[in-house]
Formats: sequence, C-alpha cells, structure tokens
Amino acid sequence: MHVDYIIVGLGLAGLAFAEVLENSQKSFVVFEDNSQNSSLVAGGVYNPVILKRFTPVWDALDQLKIAIPFYKSIEEKLATQFDFPIDVYRIFTSVEEQNNWFAASDKPFFVNYMQPKIIINSNVYINAPFGFGKISNTGKIDTKILLASYKNYLDNKNKFFNERFEYELLNVEKESITYKNITAKQLVFCEGYGVVKNPYFKNIPLKEAKGELLTIHAPGLHIDFIIKSSIFIMPLGNDYYKIGATFNWRDKTLIPTDEAKEELLTKLDRIITVPYKVVEHLAGIRPTVKDRRPIVGRHTQHSRLSILNGLGTRGVMLAPKMAKQLLNHLESGVALDNTIDIKRFERSKGN
Ligand SMILES: Cc1cc2nc3c(=O)[nH]c(=O)nc-3n(C[C@H](O)[C@H](O)[C@H](O)COP(=O)(O)OP(=O)(O)OC[C@H]3O[C@@H](n4cnc5c(N)ncnc54)[C@H](O)[C@@H]3O)c2cc1C
Repeated sequence: MHVDYIIVGLGLAGLAFAEVLENSQKSFVVFEDNSQNSSLVAGGVYNPVILKRFTPVWDALDQLKIAIPFYKSIEEKLATQFDFPIDVYRIFTSVEEQNNWFAASDKPFFVNYMQPKIIINSNVYINAPFGFGKISNTGKIDTKILLASYKNYLDNKNKFFNERFEYELLNVEKESITYKNITAKQLVFCEGYGVVKNPYFKNIPLKEAKGELLTIHAPGLHIDFIIKSSIFIMPLGNDYYKIGATFNWRDKTLIPTDEAKEELLTKLDRIITVPYKVVEHLAGIRPTVKDRRPIVGRHTQHSRLSILNGLGTRGVMLAPKMAKQLLNHLESGVALDNTIDIKRFERSKGN
C-alpha cells in the first residue's frame, strides 16, 4: 500500500491532521491503539478566557476562528452533532472579583465573550452569594461522539488500523518510509503522552498533567450552563453532570484514584447542596509542554518524520490550527511560528 502520510494516534491532534489531509486530497492511514485517552475523557470545553484571572488564552481568537468552522464541516460531513454551544458561568467569591470582572470585560478582546453584568443566582441548590459572571459564545465538543464517529468514518474507508504502531518496525529511508507493507512519503506522530515511548521524539520537554473527572447524577440541580469555580460542573443531559478536573504532575498512570475523587467531591460539596450519585470516574494525561505551547514540526535528522503534540489543556481549540500549520509547513514549506516550532528545543538532546 502506498500513501502520502501515516498518522500515529487518533486523539484530537491525529483527527485534526487527518481532516486537513483529507481536505487537501492527500492519502493517509491512521494507527490507534487506545493506550492514551486524554481526548476521550476531556471536558471538551472551548473558551478564550482564563477564568482564574480573567485574562486571554494565548492566541485564542485566532484558534477559535479556525476551530469552529473546522468542527462544523466535520459535523456536516459525518451528519453528526458534537459541537454544543453552552454558556460558562464563573462563580464570584468576592466583591473584588466582581470588580475585576467588570474591568476585564471592558477590554476589546473580551467584548464578545464576557457579559458586563453580574448574574444573580436563583438556584437554591447552588452556593453563589456573589453571583456569576457569564461568558457567551463558548461551548463544548463532545469528544467521545467526535472520535467515535470519525474513527468509524476512517474505518469505512479502510484508512484506520486499530493497532499499536511498533516503532522498531519503522524503516526511514531517504526517499520514503516503510512500515510493514505500507510505503509513505511522510509520517506524523500524534500520540499525546504516548510519545514518551517514541524513540524519535522521546526527549521533548513534556510536563504532562494527569487529570481526573467524575460523572454524577443529580436530579434536582437543573442547570443548562457550565459552572466554573474551583472545578467545573458541566451538564450532559438527563440530570447527568461532568465534574472536573484535577491536576497531578507526579502520577503517570491512567488509573482513577480515591485521592482525586475526594478532592473533586470536597470542592463539589462547597458549590452544590442537592443530593447526587457518582456514576463514573475517569482519568487521562494532558500532554502539556514545559513552556505551555504546542510542539509541531519535523525531526531534525529524519525530515520525513514530524510531530503534532503538546496540546496541553486546550486540545479542542488548538488542534485544528496546529494541524493546518503543520500541513502548510510540510507541503508548502511555510515556516512554523517560533512559539510552536519544535526547533525551539533543538538544543535539548536527542531530537
Ligand atoms: C481530565 C481532562 C480534561 C480536559 N478537558 C479539556 C477541555 O475541557 N477542553 C480542551 O480543549 N482540552 C481538555 N483537555 C485536554 C485535551 O484532552 C488534550 O489537549 C488533547 O486531548 C490532546 O490530544 P492528543 O491527540 O494530542 O493526545 P491524546 O488524546 O492522548 O491522543 C493520542 C492518541 O495516540 C494513541 N497512541 C499513542 N501511542 C500510540 C502508538 N504507539 N500506536 C498507536 N496509537 C498510539 C493513543 O491511544 C491516543 O488515542 C482535558 C484533558 C484531561 C485529561
């Protein structure tokens, strides 16, 4: 089999790259072994405001300008909805925070997002005596629906291999790449935290962060917006809510822990007073980079091998723009932005 590209990994990064390849009429196959699940467990929220300090997310408006139509066109292609617009309500903890909100919402960056008023809490089961700040034009990508339907789509086109990509079987030559019976012009690694097992890129400076989430059933809570406080509470429909997420920089396993569950429930109990039941507990590892920027570009010695990783805590907004930039770089030689280019770490060993 001859293809233009092999993609390793079908999380948000691999999916975005597959989609830009397809839109450019490039042939490709994808390998996915279900060893990581960051994209699958993700809250999937897109929101350009950092809700701790009311500051802009890096490059957010440009990313959103690309991401929203990108996901829309996949929805149309797959005839499946997975982008659900939903407002985010930030709980204020003091008058000072309310003032900070007003000051920030005045800035041009935020005008389409931060509403310049205080929303009074009318839900007796929510503890928000200082009210909420409302952010509009935000939403969530149901990554489970997106990834499952995209995988199915690729499978039907014989472009999907549900198996581990074995690095030791890869043969990189000057003119092409061979892997088992596949010959390709290029290969793009999109393994998320799985990259630590990749001999070609294992030295990239990740500062991965494990995150855990709960799903609760809370009949009686009745909210149709995302609450953001020390945790988020995201309605899933039928009285189910996703609660998340923790950050742990030590534990590298995908195993849900009692410690994280307790942390989430302690925080949850400070916000809601309605009875609930925990029905699911999941964990994933965010592929975060030391400088909090993505890692995109070619391997220094093997120019047919590239990487699309480091999407960190914001894969939904970042993946489409990063995938487009990488394709333009590989196909048309367009230089990558310094902030995302893997070359910024060239002095670190091994890459
Ligand atoms: C708890 C939590 C909450 C989050 N919430 C949000 C959110 O609300 N909004 C947001 O934008 N982002 C969120 N994120 C971050 C987001 O999930 C990540 O930025 C994104 O998923 C990273 O995507 P990725 O494709 O790079 O990595 P991954 O999702 O890890 O995908 C990599 C894929 O490669 C596969 N793979 C690895 N090695 C191999 C191999 N050798 N062979 C074959 N396949 C392989 C893995 O199985 C995996 O499917 C959250 C993350 C976590 C953990």
